[in-house]
Amino acid sequence: MGALSGKAAVVTGSTSGIGLAIARALAREGADLLINGFGEAPLIARLKDQLASEYGVKVVYDGADMARPDQIEAMIEHATAELGKIDILVNNAGIQFVAPVHEFPIERWDAILAVNLSAAFHTIRLVLPQMLARDWGRIVNIASAHGLVASVNKSAYVAAKHGLVGLTKVVALETARTRITCNAICPGWVLTPLVHKQIEDRAAREGLALEEAKRALLAEKQPSLEFVSPEDIGSLVVFLCSEAASQIRGAALTIDGGWTAQ
Ligand code: NAD
Repeated sequence: MGALSGKAAVVTGSTSGIGLAIARALAREGADLLINGFGEAPLIARLKDQLASEYGVKVVYDGADMARPDQIEAMIEHATAELGKIDILVNNAGIQFVAPVHEFPIERWDAILAVNLSAAFHTIRLVLPQMLARDWGRIVNIASAHGLVASVNKSAYVAAKHGLVGLTKVVALETARTRITCNAICPGWVLTPLVHKQIEDRAAREGLALEEAKRALLAEKQPSLEFVSPEDIGSLVVFLCSEAASQIRGAALTIDGGWTAQ
């Protein structure tokens, strides 16, 4: 019996990267799952079957676009119908775009705010009533070091992630006298497709080999000079779901190799 058997979790953006590692960590502890995110149908079907058979949990998939409130609402209804309830909500789906603020495409700004911030508002407002009715819940928002400090050319991402940290604090206060907690995790660089794109762009821009571009990326921000692993973030989510974490409320927990200690 895993520590989370009998619990049901929704993890947004869990077909890749950090979200997939979080889904895997929750399944390993016995939680039933709704996974979400984009990707090729056969790959997603295989992923769903793998998670279910490896960990003996129920896994359902919903391809809702986190930029669309109507699709988010349908996903929450889908998860509740298929899993019976939602005990754990992990808002992880996120996108990035890099440009100076005066050149930032308006549609990219709107998309980043929708997926990285507003989606969490919608999932939380839709899931909280049932968590309150059972007086138990765990909400974990995957923010970023960029939820605490800024970098150039990331106006939308930094604004959305700071907003997500703010939303986390408000939800934590509004649920403070319940057995529901809401916290944010603020990772530094994690080697996922989202960061690969930035490494490739940097390598092309500065005429570097990929390995050199990786080292340059880390050297600029992350004192450990090592990437955070998706699995470490999965473990932190599992800890936040434990009873030992019941008084961690409204925190923005860094897991960033020292990035924000500077
Ligand atoms: P990723 O690109 O590997 O995965 C993103 C996931 O979100 C994918 O499953 C993708 O299909 C899904 N997704 C994207 N747009 C979506 C949409 N509109 N609707 C539904 N799903 C959507 O990225 P990642 O690096 O694993 O990032 C996951 C989260 O962690 C993001 O919120 C990101 O901002 C955050 N984060 C990442 C890093 C890093 O270094 N990789 C650092 C700090 C924070």
